[in-house]
Amino acid sequence: SPPVIAVDGPAAAGKGTLARCLAESLNLPYLDTGLLYRAVGRRMLDERLDPASQSGEQLALSLRPDDLKRTDLRTPDVDRAASLVARDQAVRQALVHIQRAFAAERGGVLDGRDIGTVIFPDADVKLYITASARTRAERRYMQMAGTETETNRDAAISEVEAALIERDRADATRAAAPLRMADDAVRIETDNLNAGQVLAEAIRIVKS
Ligand code: C5P
Repeated sequence: SPPVIAVDGPAAAGKGTLARCLAESLNLPYLDTGLLYRAVGRRMLDERLDPASQSGEQLALSLRPDDLKRTDLRTPDVDRAASLVARDQAVRQALVHIQRAFAAERGGVLDGRDIGTVIFPDADVKLYITASARTRAERRYMQMAGTETETNRDAAISEVEAALIERDRADATRAAAPLRMADDAVRIETDNLNAGQVLAEAIRIVKS
């Protein structure tokens, strides 16, 4: 059957860029699984539900493809809401089927936190992409560039870094599918690599 490739790791490590390029190189479908949690978090905020105290299970069960195409899924409030809904085992369970069905026929590259540990424990290749919190914050800041003036740069990066560290802590310490590297995953540290180098390393691992 066609290959399934799991790409896991902490927030803003470059998983999305890598997974998208890897899928393109290998001609496999690509799914950003963080979008599922973001879409549920977004709808909870829209419906004035509190992701810290109410369950997003019904919203997760009624998720539509168009919900993933919304352009307002990457705001700081949705970052927090997604991280909160991701703690809910009922939400996670509701999203398992979507993720497995996605790769059932043509395989796929999926990026997230628990792809190699929970969703596809038998994935053909498991990559764990990581970098220091500072590097990740700088990259995330660069993506948002234009929103801050140059003099605020350091303070802005530190603010992004603090939010990333908090989200990592929440993702790694939650009871439901905490972020961890699968025993059989290959780790790629991306602090000193550009996107092209990360892709080359990933392709080397896939072909080995
Ligand atoms: O990857 P991204 O930052 O878009 O994911 C948003 C949030 O969704 C993460 O902070 C994490 O809590 C959750 N998530 C998850 N499992 C996944 C993908 C994302 O718990 N497979």
